[in-house]
Amino acid sequence: MIAPIERTLAGLRAQTAIWRKAGDTIGVVPTMGALHQGHLSLARAARAACDRVIVTIFVNPKQFNNPSDLDSYPRTEQDDARKLESTGVDLIYVPSPDQIYPEGFATTVTVAGLTDMLCGATRPRHFDGVATVVPKLFLQTSADFAFFGEKDYQQLQVVRRMATDLDIPVTVVGCPTIREEDGLAMSSRNLLLSDRARIKAPMLAEVMQDIRAQLLNGATMAQITPDAKARILTAGFTKIDYLELRDGDDLSLLDQAKPGARLFAAAWLAGVRLIDNIAV
Ligand code: AMP
Repeated sequence: MIAPIERTLAGLRAQTAIWRKAGDTIGVVPTMGALHQGHLSLARAARAACDRVIVTIFVNPKQFNNPSDLDSYPRTEQDDARKLESTGVDLIYVPSPDQIYPEGFATTVTVAGLTDMLCGATRPRHFDGVATVVPKLFLQTSADFAFFGEKDYQQLQVVRRMATDLDIPVTVVGCPTIREEDGLAMSSRNLLLSDRARIKAPMLAEVMQDIRAQLLNGATMAQITPDAKARILTAGFTKIDYLELRDGDDLSLLDQAKPGARLFAAAWLAGVRLIDNIAV
């Protein structure tokens, strides 16, 4: 059965009040739609852990840096609802923008430190947009558990910090990155790649795996990075925003592998910005 779609906060609260009264736990999976197997894996993780599951679909204007990126973001609501059918979610919350940002909305949540580097360095205010909308979705859904992908690892850490700092009683659960067969991390933005660019895209993950192997053999990022960046550019990527090894908790910069380290990359291919990260 296709789960019902709710578009208003009042309707959402009427439903969650019934579940709460019955003593059900609620899990939420925040998304921006254009769903793929990565999103569905989060919905399944939520289904396994919670009595009730809400998937939210909201293309959050506050986390986009430019209007053309917001306009070109894929929107596939009917397909999304059909894809969710197999996961058995209970409700799809697709708020209209005024349900999230009503007239006069004036609050911004900023998480300091964790947002200075990686995507925060190249996408100013992006994480303010995330850290402002996510607590609203937590509070609107009154979720006990929230499921996020490690694909957006920095976002996961920012959300964890925000929920802790604001005493929001939600357990944030990180779920592994789901990949295409050729290694490309699944992303709604992959839909924007031309056929030619799509063939080149897995090179980013391939180079990252090679860096990982070299790091585990004792090499340093200072030694590896120049060649690795050259390979990514030779493969057809036009610009590398970052290729960095960082601590998986506080995201501080590292030069050598250690337990908990992660390799992070963001690069542009044919006008599309792809990101990826792996544990080292
Ligand atoms: P988005 O719709 O891109 O905002 O993503 C919604 C959620 O799905 C976020 O928690 C993402 O980290 C997660 N997600 C996106 N792609 C993947 C993937 N390939 N594997 C696992 N989770 C993902």
